[in-house]
Amino acid sequence: MLVTAKEMLDKAKAGHYAVGHFNINNLEWTKSILAVAQELNSPVILGVSEGAGKYMTGYKTVAAMVKAMIEEMGITVPVALHLDHGSYEGCKKCIEAGFSSIMFDGSHLPIEENIEKTKELVKLAHENGMSIEAEVGSIGGEEDGIIGAGEFADPEECKKIADLGVDFLAAGIGNIHGKYPANWPGLNFDVLAKVQEKTGTLPLVLHGGTGIPADMIKKAITLGVSKINVNTECQLAFADATRKYIEAGKDLEGKGFDPRKLLAPGAEAIKDTVREKIELFGSANKA
Ligand SMILES: [Zn+2]
Repeated sequence: MLVTAKEMLDKAKAGHYAVGHFNINNLEWTKSILAVAQELNSPVILGVSEGAGKYMTGYKTVAAMVKAMIEEMGITVPVALHLDHGSYEGCKKCIEAGFSSIMFDGSHLPIEENIEKTKELVKLAHENGMSIEAEVGSIGGEEDGIIGAGEFADPEECKKIADLGVDFLAAGIGNIHGKYPANWPGLNFDVLAKVQEKTGTLPLVLHGGTGIPADMIKKAITLGVSKINVNTECQLAFADATRKYIEAGKDLEGKGFDPRKLLAPGAEAIKDTVREKIELFGSANKA
């Protein structure tokens, strides 16, 4: 069922596990992620970037597809449909389109402006029965054209944003989008601990979940991270499996060119990645 991300993340925070946020790009992605969440009896968050929303022809298409798929696939675990790194305008569009959750990313704005816009969107989201994530301290790397330098969040600024009534908060702690460079110094747990100290029971969000070693993920969860975003890892798994299928010449055998056959190994690879993450995050059987 489609729900907001608030209750599932409050439960995760109290239960010391994290819920996976997996970005979707198309029907195959959505279907694979929903199937595994149901199989593992886990809550799940489907993340949609503004770029992916556009690719799928618009947020209304996405919302309609996800709602119909939940029904047609008989999905009974809690599913949130969440705008990832939304602009102010994008948030408003997703509220209208029937998403259940939004993220307003005002991390590139001066803190006062971030506060002002976050405050307005918190009110709007809650009036419409939706949950809202905000961000302090930009996440490094590049995601759909938004480039962050990977600064650390200021715990005082996190508290200011948390006090606006946001439901969960992304705080930069050295995490980056995309692949991590070989010389990456790792997550900064001191910053995370200070943010957690200032924000109390508010669920914290770790972006850039791809390639963070499992022990760091586990430690982050013990320090208050309740939502972990995974995007690049599913993309790499899909591309790798698809390349192998084509390189093996399978598309040239019989009806191997049928898109349902051609995309099947990639879809299975996404499933394997999601399964692995849900097990690591500890949200299996927490639906
Ligand atoms: Zn992100």
